[in-house]
Amino acid sequence: MSKDDEMNSKGYSRKEFLKHLSIGIGGAFVLPGLAGAYRVDSNNHPYYYQQWEKREDLPDSEKLGIALVGLGSYAMGQLAPALQNTKFCKLSGLVTGTPSKEEQYGREYNIPDANIYNYNSYDQIADNDDIDIIYVVLPNSMHAEYTIRAAEAGKHVICEKPMATSVADARAMVDACNKAGVKLSIGYRLHFEPHHQEIMHIGQDEIYGPVTDMNSGFAFRLTDPNRWRIDKELAGGGPLMDVGVYAVQAAMYTMGKLPLSVIAETPEKTKPELFDEVEETIRWTLEFPGGQKATGESSYAQSYNYHHANTTQGFCHIEPSYGYGGIEAKTHNGVINVPNVGQQKLQMDAFADCVINGKESQVPGEMGLRDTKILMAIYESAEKGQKIEFDWS
Ligand code: NDP
Repeated sequence: MSKDDEMNSKGYSRKEFLKHLSIGIGGAFVLPGLAGAYRVDSNNHPYYYQQWEKREDLPDSEKLGIALVGLGSYAMGQLAPALQNTKFCKLSGLVTGTPSKEEQYGREYNIPDANIYNYNSYDQIADNDDIDIIYVVLPNSMHAEYTIRAAEAGKHVICEKPMATSVADARAMVDACNKAGVKLSIGYRLHFEPHHQEIMHIGQDEIYGPVTDMNSGFAFRLTDPNRWRIDKELAGGGPLMDVGVYAVQAAMYTMGKLPLSVIAETPEKTKPELFDEVEETIRWTLEFPGGQKATGESSYAQSYNYHHANTTQGFCHIEPSYGYGGIEAKTHNGVINVPNVGQQKLQMDAFADCVINGKESQVPGEMGLRDTKILMAIYESAEKGQKIEFDWS
């Protein structure tokens, strides 16, 4: 008997129960609406995590099941452990191309054999009611195929950043999920992080006046040549695709507006033998309506991690900015005193909440599509040596 057929104490099947939840009011397991919860301010308006903390866990049998696809360092180092502490979802399935991981992680996380798949049997997830959400954590160029196959299997999808390695792929992913009637979100964990939520509020709500200019960067030293991250086919590009996307995102959610144009450059490589397929370092400037500029940089040959925005009345600064913890932020008024939290568990629970309550994700596929357009325009500008105007129509 599948879980779907099991009756809970009220006599609903699991899926009926969840549907009931989405329209119910005031029941013990009803999740209060989160609309607008990511809007925070310096005067103790609630952060997402504060609301999350107050909620009761769903009983284990009612949590949405997540299957992780691609059991690499992020999936097994961050997501699987985070799923041991989520309130509305849990780890229910694994998809891997490495047989030894089936055994190792199946045992470690107590996943039944029937919920463990490889890339050939992946589509059979369609018949597995234990799995409600598929989380694609594969190398970048594989995101599109596995997101589309997940949608065709009728499962909701979380896809890691960068969403895709081409605009056509990103659009196909959004279309496939719309067609299948499933939700798609991108693994933009910082949208659920209190320091970054505060920066969104300061920028978008013009708490210290309008933003006048921004500067953001994320870089680390990559030295291992045996990595898909420097394989153009798998990664779609270099540091911009991997970590530069965070700097682009920071500019976008501080400004809250679409850019008009971008101009970019890739300086000469210091290790051309290592970075023979992708850029080593890249710099860009986005220009927004009103003339505000957001400069950004990303590299595999240096190390930095910051986001800075000037406003007409002051500034805000986050450094380190994009890690899983240890984030520190300040404004001209002093330290932004909010805690570091488990970003991945908040991100996954927020998506489960959207599925359960029929709400839109704060980080939907459309946002990933927008960002893919920006990333591709940065590359196009660097390649052509000219400004690229965006067509957002
Ligand atoms: P890893 O290389 O550690 O893991 C990728 C996994 O994908 C592999 O372990 C493997 O899993 C599977 N895979 C399938 N085909 C291939 C292939 N041809 N080459 C390599 N791996 C393959 O990468 P990460 O976990 O660091 O990154 C995965 C994704 O997650 C990327 O898109 C990355 O951008 C994103 N990411 C996001 C982060 C965030 O903070 N949001 C942080 C880190 C990464 P298996 O053996 O099970 O088949």
